[in-house]
Amino acid sequence: KPFPVLVKGEVVAGFGRGGKQLGIPTANLATEAVERALENMDIGVYLGWAQVEGGAVMPMVMSLGWNPYFKNEKRSGEVHIMHAFKDDFYGKTLRIAVLAFVRPERDYASLDALVADIREDIRIAHEALEQPDYAQIKQSPFFGS
Ligand code: ADP
Ligand code: MG
Repeated sequence: KPFPVLVKGEVVAGFGRGGKQLGIPTANLATEAVERALENMDIGVYLGWAQVEGGAVMPMVMSLGWNPYFKNEKRSGEVHIMHAFKDDFYGKTLRIAVLAFVRPERDYASLDALVADIREDIRIAHEALEQPDYAQIKQSPFFGS
């Protein structure tokens, strides 16, 4: 699928896998949005921009995986925004511009290994998003106010 992939959806509760406890909260997009917009994309980690309901546009990494709640028949899109929010934003509209594939999904022997990989994804995303053609997408009319 050609980038950027623009997705708009509601933030729903996840499965309490403890993203927040690990210091890496992931905002789960409503399944309808994921099904509609991300259905032809490979499972794995992506980078791009995110905006919570008219706020500032921030860097993000997204994990596109299989949703255990739907017995792995549907996909889940989980977005970690690289910003320290004061409050949760469940129920709000999340807009994301998915710009590039970072890596396929991996299995982990330990939580530490998982967290280390996500830290690396975040580093890669920060660096990539500085490229002018990626940076410019922040100004897209898709990100409304
Ligand atoms: P859940 O299992 O409900 O998805 P998480 O531990 O993954 O719980 O936390 C995700 C929630 O945390 C999001 O839905 C959002 O309301 C909130 N949140 C706070 N800061 C962030 C952030 N930087 N990125 C993503 N979500 C965040
Ligand atoms: Mg989550």
